[in-house]
Amino acid sequence: MTKTAALAKLPEEIELELGLDEPDDDAALRDRAARTLSVPAESFPHVVVRKRSIDARRGRVVFHVVVGLQPPDGIPLGEPLPREVRGPSRVVIVGDGPCGLFAAYALARLGVACTVVDRGKTVQPRRHDLAGLQKRGIVDPDSNYCFGEGGAGTYSDGKLYTRAHKRGPVRDVLETLALHGAPPSILVDARPHIGSNKLPRVISAMRQRLEACGVTFEFGARVVDLITAPSGELARRRIRGVRLEGGREIAADAVVLATGHSARDVFDLLQRAGVRLEAKPFALGVRIEHPQALVNRAQYGRAHEHPRLPNAAYKLVEQVDDRGVFSFCMCPGGWIVPASTEADGLVVNGMSLSRRDSPFANSGLVVQVEVDDWERAGFHGPLGGVELQRAIERASAQAGGDGLRAPATRASDFMRGKGSSSTPMTSYLPGLTPTDVGEVLDSAGVPFAARLRTALTAFDRRMHGFASEEGVLVAVESRTSAPVRVPRDPRTLESPDLEGLHPAGEGAGYAGGIVSAALDGMRIADAIAARLAPAARSSTG
Ligand SMILES: Cc1cc2nc3c(=O)[nH]c(=O)nc-3n(C[C@H](O)[C@H](O)[C@H](O)COP(=O)(O)OP(=O)(O)OC[C@H]3O[C@@H](n4cnc5c(N)ncnc54)[C@H](O)[C@@H]3O)c2cc1C
Repeated sequence: MTKTAALAKLPEEIELELGLDEPDDDAALRDRAARTLSVPAESFPHVVVRKRSIDARRGRVVFHVVVGLQPPDGIPLGEPLPREVRGPSRVVIVGDGPCGLFAAYALARLGVACTVVDRGKTVQPRRHDLAGLQKRGIVDPDSNYCFGEGGAGTYSDGKLYTRAHKRGPVRDVLETLALHGAPPSILVDARPHIGSNKLPRVISAMRQRLEACGVTFEFGARVVDLITAPSGELARRRIRGVRLEGGREIAADAVVLATGHSARDVFDLLQRAGVRLEAKPFALGVRIEHPQALVNRAQYGRAHEHPRLPNAAYKLVEQVDDRGVFSFCMCPGGWIVPASTEADGLVVNGMSLSRRDSPFANSGLVVQVEVDDWERAGFHGPLGGVELQRAIERASAQAGGDGLRAPATRASDFMRGKGSSSTPMTSYLPGLTPTDVGEVLDSAGVPFAARLRTALTAFDRRMHGFASEEGVLVAVESRTSAPVRVPRDPRTLESPDLEGLHPAGEGAGYAGGIVSAALDGMRIADAIAARLAPAARSSTG
């Protein structure tokens, strides 16, 4: 049999299980694959690692590696590339987070010009404002962990796993990031991660490529109003552009509103423009932090010190009184950071560097909250959820004290329903104030603490030490997703109230995380191109 014929008979790929001490270089993988298939290793000249994951279930830790046996397809990474855009821009994208940036990228692939405006700064000067938050407790309402180039995604943890595979080409998003400097490992790891030291360079490389193609970016450009005109349809208006703070106007036939879940002033301006908003369930709770060694022991057991194992992650879920309580955005070897956008409110979130090597593990631990829950507590209307968030964020700031210090309770004290008089070491740079986090969470009249406590009991059974005195609960993790949805037509992706306005991404209720926000931006780009440049094909080729 010829080599080509032998190759044609082989499967496309094979999954191998490797012990912690087994070699995983190409030669070793080829050998293992050949033995597993009972064919000579010469049958296939190439092996390509396609997926890699760690399996720590059933008391033993192994690697699962999916190995491709056929030659690579030869298609260059991240194709098609953006091309030069021609003609005046008729599209304004508000918000340069993952949603807005990928919308601009997808439009440029189709040759459609756009202007991206963002209230914040580019990645470098934004870094100084983050230092101001961490060291001096100063919140700049336009430049912080949520606002600025790359949006909340830039100084985030950069975990790229998503359940949004039905929403679009996840692989395309990952390849685009890899093409702009993200580590190639994101293309094979089952839990891809970039880290907030590498993300800023990736984001600005994408911007620079787009600028070179003729896309315009403006920073320090906060949109304060939508400009509208009567449309052909009764009771509907159409978009004519946006007004920036300072009064300058930018005309547009299509506006993508990709402003994220923290731009509360945007919800107000939408209401002024007659755009309907709907209240939407979300989740709220705390960040919980442990020594990473505790998590490694709980997850890896006897193998916890094995040099080939990365710091361990976890995912925990429990149903309590019909409400989900779950861990969220877990950051092994990470840091808790102040993610406030308003001077009188405290919000925490988590991130890590690409090496994930801090001695701490943190995760959001949040309770699902329904519209009924906050209406019973006296918060009404489409922005009731925003008001609930704000009330608890203010209570958190007051309980923490000056300089963005955060209120915190040891998990063991929280389980006993009391506050703490001391807290363990923490990654949170502004510092922790020992107090009763349960009181902060329940301060607005929605019972979060009891549900969290019940779930913690179950989590401690699954991960020994999770609710011990080594764990600390830090308040408040309130910006998990938008408490508002801005309705849009499922086909045109436009607001039913304002023709040409495309509510998009996490802030409008259509995404939750970096990848799903990017995918939503790409969908919006296709919808806009279909209307404004019908000759263009889909942005994903
Ligand atoms: C610390 C932290 C860690 C995170 N870690 C992860 C993670 O590991 N993985 C993950 O998937 N997700 C993570 N997230 C969440 C993720 O960042 C968001 O889901 C994602 O960025 C949402 O994308 P978006 O484009 O919809 O909105 P955003 O990223 O919020 O971007 C909105 C943009 O709009 C701009 N803007 C707002 N209002 C205006 C206005 N009026 N005029 C002009 N511009 C405006 C803002 O400046 C901002 O740049 C993290 C978030 C934070 C804060």
